Parts: sequence; C-alpha cells; structure tokens
Amino acid sequence: MDRRNATGLNGLIHQALFNSHTGSLIDVTCDATRYTVVKPYTQFDLALLTDAPATCTDCRTILDAAPGAPRHPADIARECADTLLADADHQGYPPTLDDEGLRLTFTRLAPDARHLRPLFERLARGVYDPHNSYRTQPLYALIQEHLTDTLTERALKVPANTPKVMVRYVRYTGGELQVPVGVGDRLTYDGLASGHWPTGTVTAVETSGILVDYHDGYPPRHYHRHEVPRCFAFKLDRAPQPAQPPAATPRP
Ligand SMILES: [Zn+2]
Repeated sequence: MDRRNATGLNGLIHQALFNSHTGSLIDVTCDATRYTVVKPYTQFDLALLTDAPATCTDCRTILDAAPGAPRHPADIARECADTLLADADHQGYPPTLDDEGLRLTFTRLAPDARHLRPLFERLARGVYDPHNSYRTQPLYALIQEHLTDTLTERALKVPANTPKVMVRYVRYTGGELQVPVGVGDRLTYDGLASGHWPTGTVTAVETSGILVDYHDGYPPRHYHRHEVPRCFAFKLDRAPQPAQPPAATPRP
C-alpha cells in the first residue's frame, strides 16, 4: 500500500492511501473518507497528487503521532491482516479474500482478538443492515489490501534453488504480475477452450518443466517450461502449509 499526499476537493491536503499495483485510491488517513479527494463515481485525478506536506489537521495529528492521537489506520489494518493470515496458516488453508469469507473469519476471531475485539465485532456485523454492515467500516478495504500485499509477497517466493519457470499471478484487489513456480504452489489450468478449470498442485520443478498433480487419481502430469504460461491461467496461491503441530508438553 502506498501513502502519498493529495489535495482534497476543498483545497486541504490529506495523506491518501493507494493500491500499490494499480495506483487506485483506497482511502485517506483521517476520517474524511475517500470522497474528500475524489467525487463519487469518478476516477481519482492524478493531478491532485502533491509533494507538499499535509494541511488537514486530522491527518497531521495521526502523522505526527501526537500524544493521544489515533493510530494510523494502515497500521491497524496491517495488524488485522496479520492476525487473519496467522489464523489461516494455523488452520492450514489460505485466507478467504471475498467479503463473506472475511466476515466469517472476523466472527470466528472476535472472541480471542483481545484489543482488536471491538473492531472485529464491528467488521463481523451482518450484511442485511446497510447502516451497520462491515462494508461501512473504512478499515475493511485497507485490511483486504494488506492481505493482498502479503499474499503477493508470498507468491513471489519459492524454495531456494528452484529452476526459473514463470506464470501469471492476479492480485485480488487488482494488478497482475509474473511470479515463479515452486513446489507446493497451486496452479489453475486455463480452461477457456474446454470450460474445465481444474486446480493442481506442483509436485516438482525441474529445468525441463514442472509436474502438476490434479488429485484425480492419475499420476502428476508433466508440462514443458515453455508450455506453462500457455497452459495455466494463473498461480492461485501456495498450497496450504500443514498447521504447526502444538508444542509438545512435557509429561509430568
Ligand atoms: Zn485528512
């Protein structure tokens, strides 16, 4: 997530938060909402970006970290995203990024979320009350963005000494890039022609190509390295790593 100053529609300069891959505006640091720098149903005007310091008092209070000032929303969002990710890692599956999946995660995590509990409870409120829904929580979009950033960093990492085979990766909040294929990655086969989009797990990466297991009872299939970008639509994620076994407790 990028932080850059932007001149608001009323002339005040706020700190604004952007998607680091598409450059689209997510929110501003203070409570003024993104509509203080962009009109509804329009794109953010890049001419509003400025290197001048923020003049919005609320943004300044947070940026200067004055005593008693609220924490930076991006820092709170990162803490929430890290909690969600740690929870998903512990369970052994990737974090769900869609709205409902995240809402359910917040519901599950709220009782043990300690100081984040009030926030998680607000984020977990039902979707049928438009005035009291997680969608009205400005932090929601920031949390999604932090999760996407962290998962992109993971997608770019493969085990050391893995031969270089590249495939497309699409970020959940927008933007795509080429990432290396590693053992344990899940790849989605390009089913544009067949209508069948199976997901397989990479079991080997060699100089000649990769082996993909579709968990269909057949042996893993081999794809030459030059076939990989054509045969696979995208890398979905790294396969869930097995949950950490609980620390052994010494027997009395
Ligand atoms: Zn502001």
